[in-house]
Amino acid sequence: MNLEEYRRRARSWLEANAQRSRDEDDPGADGVAVAKAFMADLYDAGYSGISWPAEWGGQGLGQAEERAFAEEAKDFTLPTYVFSIGLGMCGPTLVDLGTPGQKARHLRPLLRGEEIWCQLFSEPGAGSDVAALQTRATETEDGWVVSGQKVWTSVAQHADWGLLLTRTDVDVPKHKGLSMFVVDMHAPGVTVRPLRDMTGRAHFNEIFFDDVHIPAENLVGRVNDGWSCAVTTLLHERLSISSGVGMGGQKDNPVAFETLRHTVDTGDPLVKDQLVELYIRSRALALFNQRLAQETKAGIFPGARGSAAKLLLAELSMFQADLATSLAGPEAVAYEDDGRLAGSIALAPALSLGGGTNEIMRNIIGDRVLNLPPEPRVDKNVPFKDLKTGTRQ
Ligand SMILES: Cc1cc2nc3c(=O)[nH]c(=O)nc-3n(C[C@H](O)[C@H](O)[C@H](O)COP(=O)(O)OP(=O)(O)OC[C@H]3O[C@@H](n4cnc5c(N)ncnc54)[C@H](O)[C@@H]3O)c2cc1C
Repeated sequence: MNLEEYRRRARSWLEANAQRSRDEDDPGADGVAVAKAFMADLYDAGYSGISWPAEWGGQGLGQAEERAFAEEAKDFTLPTYVFSIGLGMCGPTLVDLGTPGQKARHLRPLLRGEEIWCQLFSEPGAGSDVAALQTRATETEDGWVVSGQKVWTSVAQHADWGLLLTRTDVDVPKHKGLSMFVVDMHAPGVTVRPLRDMTGRAHFNEIFFDDVHIPAENLVGRVNDGWSCAVTTLLHERLSISSGVGMGGQKDNPVAFETLRHTVDTGDPLVKDQLVELYIRSRALALFNQRLAQETKAGIFPGARGSAAKLLLAELSMFQADLATSLAGPEAVAYEDDGRLAGSIALAPALSLGGGTNEIMRNIIGDRVLNLPPEPRVDKNVPFKDLKTGTRQ
């Protein structure tokens, strides 16, 4: 099928099946059921995992089809938020690093929305410095036992599975003693507590692991090689955040260019100027993302340039929110009339933190894109057990 025909069919499927109503960030139990039913339809129609390997449940098509569908979907708002971590980070990590058994077990249900995933990296004492994490996995006869705490875990209150980063060796430097696992979020000993943020919703959670058993076959990659696995996930995370995987379009977003151009006085030259800047920055980022996606598909590793895309999006998101605030005036803080504008503005700073802060993105770009001298790392060769790190005394 040629691309035009593919695009036409995608469009007509969306017209028939996608709600033009808005995506719920924190959909609640009813919303999750609706989202799951939508994902099943999307998968059965061939529009979930468009460029993922056919062998593991994807469509085995190219970036051109992936992009064509995303462009058509921009006019709709798809209820895919709860799947964004699985589709953007956990699934791609398993495609790259999972065992055949893990891929066969997990990828198809993930793509069909039957199972929801979360990413369990950050801890109270380990965010930017995630390699300082303290959640321990101890080997047993038939697998591993995990104890510790994670925090800021998006969508975990709805999740069936998590991609978990743990410490498996304290006698080696912090980056060298980590291991990654797939963890069953319904296993005994897993406690999930939602955390409410300033939008009034619970986007993320804190998670407690109390002697949680993980079977040996759930190890991702090799024991103590978790840092390189985490880098793979973080790369996918930055690319997926900047390209808006699972975000389901901007049509209904009250701070997006398309919405603002129809709701504000574009005759005012100052407003026009700012809208032009918003348009140019959005378009430049979309093209940059497109290029990174094409290069990835062609086997060219985007590396730290993914951090540049993520930083650009975080800054664009703040620019959008500032512009919308100045155009709306006092209404920007009104939570009346469903509070959508106020909610979008309050959510904007989250992008400067989640997936790595702007400062950390700049450090990565300085080190690895511009080859500037790296930050001093005094703890690089010190065994983890000898460090005073995070919440340890
Ligand atoms: C909306 C949202 C969703 C999230 N979802 C998830 C998730 O699903 N899973 C998950 O594991 N985590 C998640 N996180 C956590 C996120 O990855 C961390 O918040 C982030 O890495 C920052 O860590 P921290 O909050 O501990 O801040 P800290 O690391 O304590 O940083 C505090 C401040 O110090 C600055 N700083 C720290 N180190 C340096 C340095 N070396 N150089 C310069 N400045 C520095 C930071 O930029 C920041 O301004 C989410 C966060 C948000 C906001």
